[in-house]
Order: sequence, then C-alpha cells, then structure tokens
Amino acid sequence: MNVEEKVSDFYQQVLRRNAGEPEFHQAVSEVLDSLKVVLEKDPHYADQGLIQRLCEPERQLIFRVPWVDDQGVVQVNRGFRVQFNSVLGPYKGGLRFHPSVNLGIIKFLGFEQIFKNSLTGLPIGGGKGGSDFDPKGKSELEIMRFCQSFMTELHRHIGEYRDVPAGDIGVGGREIGYMFGQYRRLANQHESGVLTGKGLTWGGSLVRTEATGYGVVYFASKMLEAHGESFDGAKVIVSGSGNVAIYAIEKAQQLGATVVGFSDSSGYVSTPNGVDVELLKDVKEVRRARVAEYVAAAEGAEFHEGGNIWELAADVALPCATQNELNGEDAKVLAANGVRYVAEGANMPSTPEAVEVFREKGVNFAPGKAANAGGVATSALEMQQNATRDSWSFEYTDERLQKIMENIFTTCASTAATYDHEGDYVIGANIAGFKKVANAMLAQGIV
Ligand code: NDP
Repeated sequence: MNVEEKVSDFYQQVLRRNAGEPEFHQAVSEVLDSLKVVLEKDPHYADQGLIQRLCEPERQLIFRVPWVDDQGVVQVNRGFRVQFNSVLGPYKGGLRFHPSVNLGIIKFLGFEQIFKNSLTGLPIGGGKGGSDFDPKGKSELEIMRFCQSFMTELHRHIGEYRDVPAGDIGVGGREIGYMFGQYRRLANQHESGVLTGKGLTWGGSLVRTEATGYGVVYFASKMLEAHGESFDGAKVIVSGSGNVAIYAIEKAQQLGATVVGFSDSSGYVSTPNGVDVELLKDVKEVRRARVAEYVAAAEGAEFHEGGNIWELAADVALPCATQNELNGEDAKVLAANGVRYVAEGANMPSTPEAVEVFREKGVNFAPGKAANAGGVATSALEMQQNATRDSWSFEYTDERLQKIMENIFTTCASTAATYDHEGDYVIGANIAGFKKVANAMLAQGIV
C-alpha cells in the first residue's frame, strides 16, 4: 500500500469504529491528512499499530449525573471523561458543560488535546470531559448541586498524577470551585493538583483566567510579525464573548488593535470604535448577561440579532466561540473583506472547507491546537506551582506563557518548512505535536 492508501485505510477504520461521531471524524481526518508527508519520509510511524492506537482513547467513561432542581424535580444528565493518551504525562484537558455535548464531541476535543499538549513542551497527556448539562438559566444552587453530583462520580478517576481536568465552555472559576470542594470532601485531602483554574487563595495560578485569550494573541502576533505586520492599528474580529474571547479582546487592544466586533449565540455586536473591556467583563463575568446588555450601556455599539459576525471587515479574525462556527462561505467573505490572518481561539471553529479557502486565498491560518494552547500551558504551570507549594507573580507567569506561545509558533513554522510546506501552520502543528507523542509511544512499547 502507498501512503495515500494506508492513510485512507486508517481513516476508514476510524469511521467504522466510531459511527455517528462527525466532529471526531473531522479532527482525525485533519491530522491524518497532515501525516501523509511524515509517512512519506518516515514510514516507520505507521508500524506497531501506532496510528490505530493513537486514534483509540486509552479509556472512555460515561456516567449518570442525577441532581435535584429548585422545584424538587429530579434531573438526569450524562457525564463524560475521555482519557485519550497519557504517554507524555497525566491526562489533561477541560470539562465542557453545554447541551450539545456528546461522546463524539468529547472525543474530538480529547484527540486535539493530545497534540496541543505535546506542542506546549510540558509533561501533560491528553483528555477531555464534560456533560450535556446546560448551565444557562440555572440558579446558583442548581449549578452547585450539579457540580457536586458530577464530581461524586468523576473523583475516583482523576488525581494529580492520573488526570487533571480544567474548565472549558460553561465551566469557569465558579464551577471549578464547586467541583474542587466536592473532590476535597470525598478524597479527604486538599490535593490542589487535581484540578486547574482554581481560585487564587486555594492553589490557583495568576494568568490562568487570561491565558487562552492572551496566548492566541501572542501566537498571532508572531504570525503577523513573520509577515512584517503587527496588531498595532489593526482591525480585529473576535467571535464569542466568553473566557477566551474576552481576554483575546483585552490583549489585542493592549497591543494597539481595535476590536470591531464580538458575539454570543444570540447574535453579534459591532464596535467600530473598539470594545470597552471593563464593561464587557461586567456584563459577562459579573452579571452573566447576554451581549445585548453591553450594547445598552456602550456608546457606538450596535447589536445584530441572529447576524453573522464574519461579515465585518477587518485585518485579523480570531474565532473564539465554538467548533464549526466559521464555514467555507464565511471564509470567502472574510478574505474578500480584507482579512489576512486567522488564529483560532476556539477548538476547531473553522470547517475543513473554510481552512481550504484560507489556503487558496493566501490567508495565514493558525489552528486552535497551536494558537489556543496557552490555556492548557498555564494550567501546567499551575500544576508546577501546586507541586512546589509556590505561587508566582503575574509578570513572571505571563512571561512564561508568552515564551511558550512564541516557542509553539517557532516549532510550527520550522516543522512546516522542514516538510516543504512553509507557512502552513496546520501541517506544522500536526506534525510537531504528533512526532513527540509518537516517539514516546514507540519508546514505551505496545501499551
Ligand atoms: P465560555 O463558555 O466562556 O464562552 C463560550 C462563548 O462562545 C460564549 O460567548 C458563547 O455564547 C459562545 N458560543 C458557544 N456556542 C456558540 C454557538 N453555537 N454559536 C455562537 N456562539 C457560541 O467558553 P470558553 O471561552 O472557555 O471557550 C470557547 C472556546 O475556546 C471553546 O471552543 C473551547 O473549547 C476553547 N478553548 C477554551 C479554553 C479555555 O481555557 N477556556 C482553552 C482552549 C480552548 P453563549 O453564551 O450565547 O452560549
């Protein structure tokens, strides 16, 4: 079999074994596609069932999460934790609470996490988890009861050296707090290294809240710099208005950009004069309200209910909401409106068609597994601080984050060039992330 046939055979096996999981298929397909160039040069990476093992999680947990709502009615949700690959370190990856969550989505996220974590250069394996619980509209007590029930099952499967979850969509500092409290109670020990994203007085790290959004901008800055441009004076679109989006907006504006729009699932807000970040934080982090409330208090901002944010003109686009939020048509519109750089803050926000359009139109494109690795990298820094009972300053931690993002950029760029795909950060990220994991798997035998 030639490489093309081999890769197609691997992919067919994945489709057969994981029916009805389109997001997982999409994530695997993208990585396998990049690996063709590796297998041409280094065919031994297809030996020892390496690729089949890589595509099969080490362990998949699905569990019932019963809880009682404020009306006294029993609710039942489904919990997931996919422990995908621990060859480089304990499983590490966030928990997502969103009604769309299913096994295929958690597997796509866990699979991506393996390569992302490898790219950080830190000793962490890949995993992901969550639930189809919808935090929207729930009371504080309902959120707490749900988190406690979720952790009552999850606690037996995680630990400082085993699996260290963090936040993701729908899981922020509040939810991590409730889950940590329940873990501590059940385990009868204050094992701070078991979760990251904790509060600052009980083992959390400075910069963790900002890390993913800041990291995307640090990565994108290097990409712009490589083409003689910078954020200073640039117009930027940021989709979403959650944790990643808010801090991407903050950092881009600190570097002199104007963020011309942001969104949530109800529509987008155009902000031709830039975003008032403190107001946005108040609306989203304190009041937990919809973006329409931002518009009511901000001058010059306009709400476009149900509108498509990718219709705005800009130089840089940072999709920071969710998977497949930017399709081929959107990509064409972005390119036509002058966007020259796209860096993914969310996981897999661009569809394969969109990525193809970016390639065709010469739009520089940074995939999430490289560009949004700052969150998990800072989680690993939180683990380091927990292990040494230390807490670092904001400046020092931010400097470490910035260095890590710059290293990831350099690794992606140089790997792409080595494999004759200069400027293709998708190929660079996939190959560099893969080789480190693959070499460790080969060294550790067939397990
Ligand atoms: P949050 O829950 O804080 O925010 C998510 C944001 O995206 C909200 O504004 C939400 O709007 C919006 N959103 C979600 N679904 C949709 C949709 N279908 N259409 C339009 N908007 C939508 O999550 P995060 O900011 O933490 O995560 C955002 C992305 O970044 C995810 O892909 C996540 O996996 C990824 N990521 C997060 C990391 C982190 O450290 N938090 C690390 C690396 C990646 P609404 O409120 O209306 O639902």
